[in-house]
Amino acid sequence: MIITIDGPSGTGKSTTAKRLASALQIAYLDTGAIYRSLAWFFLEEKIDPANEAEGKKALKRFHLEITEDENYIVSGKNITKELRKEKISTLSSTVSAFPYIRKHLRKIQRGCMSKRSGVVEGRDIGSAVFPKADVKIFLTASLASRAKRRHLQLKEQFPDQDFSLKDIEEKLDQRDQADSTRASCPLKKTSDMYVIDTTNLSLEEVLIAILHRIPRKKMRFFYRMIFQIAWGIFRCFYRFRVYGKQHLFAGPALVIANHTSYFDPHMTVLAMKEELHILARNTLFRQKLLASLIL
Ligand code: C5P
Repeated sequence: MIITIDGPSGTGKSTTAKRLASALQIAYLDTGAIYRSLAWFFLEEKIDPANEAEGKKALKRFHLEITEDENYIVSGKNITKELRKEKISTLSSTVSAFPYIRKHLRKIQRGCMSKRSGVVEGRDIGSAVFPKADVKIFLTASLASRAKRRHLQLKEQFPDQDFSLKDIEEKLDQRDQADSTRASCPLKKTSDMYVIDTTNLSLEEVLIAILHRIPRKKMRFFYRMIFQIAWGIFRCFYRFRVYGKQHLFAGPALVIANHTSYFDPHMTVLAMKEELHILARNTLFRQKLLASLIL
């Protein structure tokens, strides 16, 4: 499963994508950091991205390693701390406008996600890199709130430096303009993206909105058959109803029944629209038929 999160800077893409990936226990990929790594590399090697021949040669020498704990290693050097600096932000936007660079990085991004599920965030992920993604999200927020977020982030990352909010707001606006008006794969929302305005939402509210969009895993044939029979019996004879469905969403969860009846386990299973795996005392698993039903 691939979930894409696109949107301009400061909308909370990274925080949301990281938390989502960790809740779903799938990979996380920050494609902005890949553009930033390349910008750092071009700066270090004094490559002018406008010189395509030179740029293409440099791309062959560009080896990026992303470690499990999200460190970015280029040419054997850990450049993670360099990536959020203002000059790298501006240069990453400049290099990202060149089609030959986008083509190369698109390959890297697809390679990172081959044969695995993940949350991928960036500017053209749902529209160009993974157009067939399972869930596509587009985050927006007012310029003022985005600038405030970026200001807080920078103060946290570089506590001994002073940052002007107005300056950040101007630079953010300029970068968004450049990102959304460039000819090659501009930042854009497509009609199949689910748009969330994060200006007045907490991180939890954004996560819940996204989790509700994730398609549920289909039940296996035998499970579905038993489920439907049991559903019919409980509905007819016990007037079974489920309340508070809005609190249920995709992703790993521990569902704990309050044990007010011996039917609690059955009804808990029926309340969920996807397969549950039961944790129960081992004596219940000694009866073969019951064990095969609840395992
Ligand atoms: O998301 P972040 O601010 O780290 O991205 C840095 C820059 O990389 C963006 O301003 C944008 O120009 C570029 N970018 C891009 N496409 C992506 C991700 C980032 O063009 N998928």
